[in-house]
Amino acid sequence: MARIVVLGGAESGVGAAVLAKTKGFDVFLSDNGKIAQKYAEQLRKWDIAFEEGGHTEALVLSADEVVKSPGIPDSAPMVRKLTAQGTPIISEIEFAGRYDSAKKICITGSNGKTTTTSLIYYLLQQAGLNVGLGGNIGKSYAYQVATEQHDYYVLEISSFQLDNVYSFRPDIAIITNITPDHLDRYDHNMENYVRAKFRITRNLRPEDCFIFDSDDEITVGHLSRIILQAKMLPFSQQQEVAQGAFLREDKIVVRYEESESEIYLKELALGGKHNVYNSMAAALAAKAVHIDDAVIRASLSSFQPIEHRLEPVLSIKDVLYINDSKATNIDSAWYALECQHHPVVWIVGGKDKGNDYGVLEKLVREKVKAIVCLGVDNAKIHAAFEDIVGSDKITDTASAAEAVAAASRFAEAGDVVLLSPCCASFDLFKNYEDRGEQFKEAVRNL
Ligand code: ADP
Repeated sequence: MARIVVLGGAESGVGAAVLAKTKGFDVFLSDNGKIAQKYAEQLRKWDIAFEEGGHTEALVLSADEVVKSPGIPDSAPMVRKLTAQGTPIISEIEFAGRYDSAKKICITGSNGKTTTTSLIYYLLQQAGLNVGLGGNIGKSYAYQVATEQHDYYVLEISSFQLDNVYSFRPDIAIITNITPDHLDRYDHNMENYVRAKFRITRNLRPEDCFIFDSDDEITVGHLSRIILQAKMLPFSQQQEVAQGAFLREDKIVVRYEESESEIYLKELALGGKHNVYNSMAAALAAKAVHIDDAVIRASLSSFQPIEHRLEPVLSIKDVLYINDSKATNIDSAWYALECQHHPVVWIVGGKDKGNDYGVLEKLVREKVKAIVCLGVDNAKIHAAFEDIVGSDKITDTASAAEAVAAASRFAEAGDVVLLSPCCASFDLFKNYEDRGEQFKEAVRNL
């Protein structure tokens, strides 16, 4: 019996282990850290052997194939040993794809993945299709392949999950956009990061679709250097395209094969320029699986905003508090500021991933009246913006409650308080969800 060893005992690893078990492999899961109780229980329930708090070399190195969780870098000592002895290392997505014949719509990119994935999932559900949602969201893809049956999957795939993908083939691949992010995992080399994203296209065939942002220079630049077999479906807010989606006056025009349809911008449920891109990508994916124009239009206008992404929390004394905790890089905060139409008290800061704040200078000048820094080290934010807003309009805080209290002092009726931190959350919070929850709690307590 072939032996599969899974490294990492969280959502993706446990899903892969369960799938391997149902396919009759000899399965072992090993995690260097602690396995959460919920996952340990699942492993026991499926009678899967596992260890935590370290790897037993003999048990791991005896694998015929290893499924590695996306959080574990190639530089981890055990991964290096496996590579040195030539053991194939694949991702959970690659593994699950082998056992799944459903049509797959796969979304990657630097920003907008979750929004676009959720929009497409909603569209397919509204069209009455039997669809599963997975990848980086919710239940792992592998677990669903093991325990459910779907005709379609909509999968959000991070670049880490793509790193160990070889034969996996989406029917529809989407790259939302590519901007510098997570460069620490790619030797600080942008080209490596771009190539990792483009792995989503590597097995596309002529009948498959590739949906991409043709306003994005990095994506278009890379496309000019490679050959793709797939049907190309660009989306753009700057120019008309022969096939794909573009803007005409106050409408999105969607051209797919012989058909042309229109969606009024004012009818889109999600506001902001970035969500026009996300809605275009979703509409194109829906067209490519032959969903009716009327269903596409109705779904794009009835979709509910997702948590932590420009999520309106409460209006207090005519000040609207918005939770955009998921904005963990410059580009996402740029779009969040860009779509504000009222003076902004901006809560920003956290663990900086090498941000160049200069890109935001113009927007801060136009829209931001005061800045509340929420991070351990706020020196770069002061250096970038203190002269713009004035030294009496910038302050430092070290908790969500302090930040909300400070923001409420700066804000007046008609203003917006926007948490769009531009940074990761790990200096003061567990993760971006924790930061968003604490922000919302503090707003409710005002
Ligand atoms: P991801 O899953 O790629 O991190 P999300 O859909 O969760 O993306 O959105 C994260 C943040 O990025 C949002 O809070 C929003 O401010 C911003 N954003 C969403 N879509 C886009 C886009 N197409 N381009 C740039 N920024 C975006």
